[in-house]
Amino acid sequence: MNPRDLSDHVAYEAGRGIEEVARELERDPDEFVKLASNENPHGPAPAAIVAIREGAAGVSSYPKAAHADLTDALADRWNVTPDQVWLANGGDGAIDYLHRAMLEPGDSVLVPTPGFAYYGMSARFHHGDVATYDLSKGDDFAQHADAILESYDGERIVWVTSPHNPSGSTMALSEIERLAAKTDEETLVVVDEAYGEFASVDSALALLEGDDPREDVAVLRTFSKAYGLAGLRLGYAVVPSAWASAYTRVNTPFAAGELTCRAGLAALEDTEHVERTVETTTAAREYITEHAEAHGWPSEGNFVLLEVGEASAVAEEMQERGVIVRDCTSFGLPECIRITCGTDAETERAVETLNAVLEDHTADGRTPREVTE
Ligand SMILES: *Cc1c(COP(=O)(O)O)cnc(C)c1O
Repeated sequence: MNPRDLSDHVAYEAGRGIEEVARELERDPDEFVKLASNENPHGPAPAAIVAIREGAAGVSSYPKAAHADLTDALADRWNVTPDQVWLANGGDGAIDYLHRAMLEPGDSVLVPTPGFAYYGMSARFHHGDVATYDLSKGDDFAQHADAILESYDGERIVWVTSPHNPSGSTMALSEIERLAAKTDEETLVVVDEAYGEFASVDSALALLEGDDPREDVAVLRTFSKAYGLAGLRLGYAVVPSAWASAYTRVNTPFAAGELTCRAGLAALEDTEHVERTVETTTAAREYITEHAEAHGWPSEGNFVLLEVGEASAVAEEMQERGVIVRDCTSFGLPECIRITCGTDAETERAVETLNAVLEDHTADGRTPREVTE
């Protein structure tokens, strides 16, 4: 017996964890810092930790009230109705729900390249096809409606990532609105704002509120990045009210767990933690761009993309020296690494390590890998 034909499907390549790397190199995990997965360097919101502790005894029941409370709080915050908030198992889960709700077999989605791999993976799981539009390095990964429209061919969903992973570029709200207006009535533009808290551009959520909201724009958000809850898996889509009720037909029953919802609610109210996170991130972005001896792109996310030459060799050598960063080869950028904004000390160590690796690289003309060998 075999599963269905999965030859078009690829496995998701996540950033590597400290435990995994330390075990492989037979080293002490304490020697490493991990700046590879855009996680929150300050950990979860303290209020979320309390909520998890206090909720522990309640996990024998299915999560109903907690799910409703979190949905209500998010609806309140974004000025939409609770049915417009689709809670999910991470932002990734929300991507699945949107595909489940929208795609007939053979429908297509249009996704950015380089870009977040899961859009395409999820579309394929849901029997969809995947087309791409280019964000070009030469143009600093600028995001314009016209450039996307040139690749657009009536796809059912157009994915926009703003801030964009891995480059950190954004798409202006006016451009998103123009894109939605110029695409077919049956095309949904989804704006993935996984890094929205770190950005200075206006959220596309503005298009979903007011007297005349758009019916063809949805927004994705997550608790994994600014809120520091990546391990709990909590994200959501905010969708137009016209078809919001589809959620009840496509979601996995109890889409988010009891502790997850309670922690999310607490994190949402712990504004001090998010503010502190955004502050360190902004400082770290500036530090990296200013002090790294490599070209870095201006970023509105909690990471910076840097052009370093042979990225796999540079990332490997940095890892050898205790700093785990993301080699962007799997994004189609074999000359770039992405460094997550850490605490001040982590960020400084990462930049220092990168500069040392690059210097060793150029000093004798050999690649970092040759130097290691
Ligand atoms: C991290 C990320 C997500 C969602 O991550 P989850 O942990 O599943 O919430 C979505 N889109 C982009 C571009 C991301 O980088």
